[in-house]
Amino acid sequence: MAKKEFKSESKRLLNLMINSIYTHKEIFLRELISNASDALDKFYYLSLSDENIVFDKENFYIRISLDKDNRTIKIIDKGIGMSKDELEENLGTIAKSGSFAFKNENEKEEGVDIIGQFGVGFYSAFMVGSRLVVKSRKYGEAEGYMWESDGADGYEISPCNVDEVGTEITIYLKENTEDENYDTYLEEYTIRSLVKKYSDYIKYPIKMMVTKRKPKPMPEDADENAAPEFEEYSEDDVLNSMIPIWRKNKSEVTDEEYNNFYKEKFFDFEDPSKIIHMSADGLVSYKSLMFIPKRPPYNYYTKEFKKGLQLYANGVLIMENCEDLLPDYFGFVKGLVDSADLSLNISREILQHDRQLKTIAASIKKKIKSELENMQKNDRDAYVEFYENFKRPLKFGVYDNFGQNKDFLIDLIMFYSSAEKKLVTLKEYVDRMKSEQEFIYYAAGETIEQIDRLPQTEMIKEKGYEILYFTEDVDEFAIKVLGKYADKSFKSVSDSGLDIADEEEKKAEKEAKNSNKELFEFLKETLKDKTADVRPSTRLKSYPVCITSEGEVSLEMEKVLNSMPNDNNIKAQRVLEININHEIFGKLKNLYGSDNDKLKKYASVLYNCAMLMEGMSIENPAEFASDTCSLLG
Ligand code: ADP
Repeated sequence: MAKKEFKSESKRLLNLMINSIYTHKEIFLRELISNASDALDKFYYLSLSDENIVFDKENFYIRISLDKDNRTIKIIDKGIGMSKDELEENLGTIAKSGSFAFKNENEKEEGVDIIGQFGVGFYSAFMVGSRLVVKSRKYGEAEGYMWESDGADGYEISPCNVDEVGTEITIYLKENTEDENYDTYLEEYTIRSLVKKYSDYIKYPIKMMVTKRKPKPMPEDADENAAPEFEEYSEDDVLNSMIPIWRKNKSEVTDEEYNNFYKEKFFDFEDPSKIIHMSADGLVSYKSLMFIPKRPPYNYYTKEFKKGLQLYANGVLIMENCEDLLPDYFGFVKGLVDSADLSLNISREILQHDRQLKTIAASIKKKIKSELENMQKNDRDAYVEFYENFKRPLKFGVYDNFGQNKDFLIDLIMFYSSAEKKLVTLKEYVDRMKSEQEFIYYAAGETIEQIDRLPQTEMIKEKGYEILYFTEDVDEFAIKVLGKYADKSFKSVSDSGLDIADEEEKKAEKEAKNSNKELFEFLKETLKDKTADVRPSTRLKSYPVCITSEGEVSLEMEKVLNSMPNDNNIKAQRVLEININHEIFGKLKNLYGSDNDKLKKYASVLYNCAMLMEGMSIENPAEFASDTCSLLG
């Protein structure tokens, strides 16, 4: 039979495996056991609807067999098996293709990452084996087939006598090298501890014939003090506890076990940042094991990302990704739910309307929230790290569906504070508000540094008010939907109606306005295409001018809305505010009536300066430059 080539993508992956410098080669065993377990699952699932399958629990196991003489490891299951076509399809190509976006040719480095991230399944056996032989017979077929490969140059498939339905994989171990002792995989001890470490929860027994020792019976006339003699014998041992990790008590599971389970099951290469293991007995009883990843998955912000939890009915997987169990704003949570109250044969459509499922979803949502709240309260550093990674979905959660979930989520939201120089909650802000302070002040901008430099923030800080910095496009929208927090409204430092002046300052402002009525009218007329008003300001300290806005749409919102695809050119109502205590105001007063042309240039330059400080672009930079130069000259 002619040798066939692997598909090119697979070939590259194979080369990665064969030449792997990956330090955790041992994961090959976990991958093969996991495949065997899946094959048993599939067979079991089929047996529920196929009367011809006589379910025999005795057959539902996985066997590992070691052969030191031939240096082979066999992994055997009596699962669903593979047909000739399936051997071709499944083992000739990468099953999880798509996950493997090969970026460059630097495969050594990158390979480690891929192996770590995705496990890479069956091919990982090439990290320890130089030759693989798979014998399989599919359920319902009379004939079996053998797939064999010595590595990258191809594989062969030929008919083969296979007595029973199922699959047997034989790994011929690589020769030992200076760096790597492959013989270790022939030791019972190694295999036993690898099964314990990675596959303990597999729900089928993983059996292995092991050598045991027992004392020989003492001869009648033996000396009382003689050391007993031992004899060796072989016995079938079950290596795993078979209790799914989520069914164990928390106290029985180590962090390492949780972490290994998470990484294997959810294809992450980092430990999770939070483990949530819960058991609920109420209207519906269920167990759930959930994880918050350290970072969002690489496709989190794309359409490909699918939120959801695995759903088990009494230990049997019935749905790989049950979306209805998680709200969008907690879509980053990974994990599973196992309930004995769900029926095994339930269809997807029915599941969506299932009352029990809804009950579970509601309780899970609360649990995730309370875990996050605890973390926020008791381990702030960890929460901040989590929050930096997942604040977007939470904030969108406040905003989405017209704020339906705003009250549920708002206490998880944090903003950078001018006073604390770190993230704070709204509650913390409100609790330390000054007694006379009416509003929660915020400033929107691109970065903390840019907001810090806004003329508008200076005076408010000076007066001792705390300002929350909104640096994400969703922030202001979320707050608008929220409306109030603890009965306090929000006020932008760039709101033209910001009222922080004391009586004296207000008096001065009024005076300036009255005695310079015509000057302000003139400036307003000059800038009428650009601003709705020009006013004296009491919010400024050292800066001459600033731009504020009137009405519902702020300057930041204008920026966000106009960057969206269906550009409808929304404009904030701009107001130019002039610092009446700044020397430039004196200049303007002097120019008015004496050199109105120059005053117009001043007006235009000041407006553009204010726009630049706000982080907005100016409409006509050339004009701005020439005006500025002519004033300097
Ligand atoms: P994955 O398991 O992630 O899909 P693998 O490369 O490990 O990727 O396996 C590819 C496919 O080969 C599996 O999806 C499965 O259909 C099939 N397969 C692997 N091992 C077995 C087995 N022991 N019994 C039946 N099918 C198997």
